[in-house]
Amino acid sequence: MEAERRKEIIATQKPKIPWANEPTMGSYYGEEEFEAVRREMERCNHPHIGFHAHNDTALEFEEKFAEWCGAQHAISVNGAGSGLDMAVMALDLQPGDEVIVPAINFKAAGLSVLGQGGTVVWCEVDERTFQADPEDIARRITSKTRAIYPVHMNGMAAPIDEYLEIANEHPHPRHGPLKVIGDAARSCGARLKGSPVGSWEWICVFSFHTMKNMTTLGEGGMVVTQDADVAAKLRKIRGFGGDVWGTNYKMTNVQAAVGLAQLERIDEMLEQRRTVAAQRDELLAGIPEIELPYCPEDRWHTYYLYTCLVPEEWAGEKRDEIMRIMAEEFEIPCVVANPPCYYSNEFLNRHTDHSDLPRSEMLGKRLFCVPIHPLISSEDNEYICAALWEAVERVR
Ligand SMILES: *Cc1c(COP(=O)(O)O)cnc(C)c1O
Repeated sequence: MEAERRKEIIATQKPKIPWANEPTMGSYYGEEEFEAVRREMERCNHPHIGFHAHNDTALEFEEKFAEWCGAQHAISVNGAGSGLDMAVMALDLQPGDEVIVPAINFKAAGLSVLGQGGTVVWCEVDERTFQADPEDIARRITSKTRAIYPVHMNGMAAPIDEYLEIANEHPHPRHGPLKVIGDAARSCGARLKGSPVGSWEWICVFSFHTMKNMTTLGEGGMVVTQDADVAAKLRKIRGFGGDVWGTNYKMTNVQAAVGLAQLERIDEMLEQRRTVAAQRDELLAGIPEIELPYCPEDRWHTYYLYTCLVPEEWAGEKRDEIMRIMAEEFEIPCVVANPPCYYSNEFLNRHTDHSDLPRSEMLGKRLFCVPIHPLISSEDNEYICAALWEAVERVR
């Protein structure tokens, strides 16, 4: 993008919507969702029906979601946080058991391991994809390792096939092959080698929180698995237990009704995200110093976030200066998603060993995410790109 063109765009195309760094609503609703809410409320508004969660609507949502992501079983929940806790409960950790979790991450996965009395072993991520690095995972496996717990980072599938291979090659002495749990909170719809996230893992967890690719009225999530016994156990945990401990992690039927409507539209919303990302890749081609998001050939990226990197020489101060110019001068706030997550949570900081993660430490100072949303118009996208280019020119 030439300097003159950038100046013109900045002068004339300031977005009317102030796009947030990680938009507070990652999806959007149409008539279908409004109607679904009304229909479900009317249907449940009887003394003999009520809003109980284990009924047709939630079950239909679970069935359709499982089919959509290629999983055998799906269990709807009130959020990915509870879903991740349930996944680790299903592991039945003993004190001293270790779970390998990427450090460049949201805080939920690490917390779910600590919550069940396990030990978090952080691993490094690949510098270009931000996904847990298979080689580094293998290096950190011990006789106490029970599971590999990757996040499908920022809208892209992690190389689950490689983790599954490692899991088989390094079995636990008593429990056999390591379990692979996926955190797909940000990556609903992402694919690896043509197969969706959720079809690969022992257990995989999705979020329908307001910021995510697909949403159910602010909160919500789905736990999927290929294993019928695990599914039965997860259902018990979600609904006050039985022969196992349980509590109430259910989503409401109204949320499930909205989920069904979103499921009809999710593929279209992901295509919109991909269109914005593809246009942005073109507009930013040739931008000096910045590395644009990289997607290996075998992945289908959903672009939950548009993650860029500054060179090592710009780590920290210059990256922050770019973000400051973007926010203050162009009103385009960016976000660092994520720095090593033991910095975003004091509990994780105090109860995990994070002494050997040089690559994650460096990446946390280099990465930043530029706002993306299915409804960003090409004019707004041009403005965002022109602003980023200007910010980079200014700090050079
Ligand atoms: C948002 C998010 C979560 C938590 O999801 P909730 O549904 O809000 O509980 C977990 N992991 C990752 C990677 C996330 O981005």
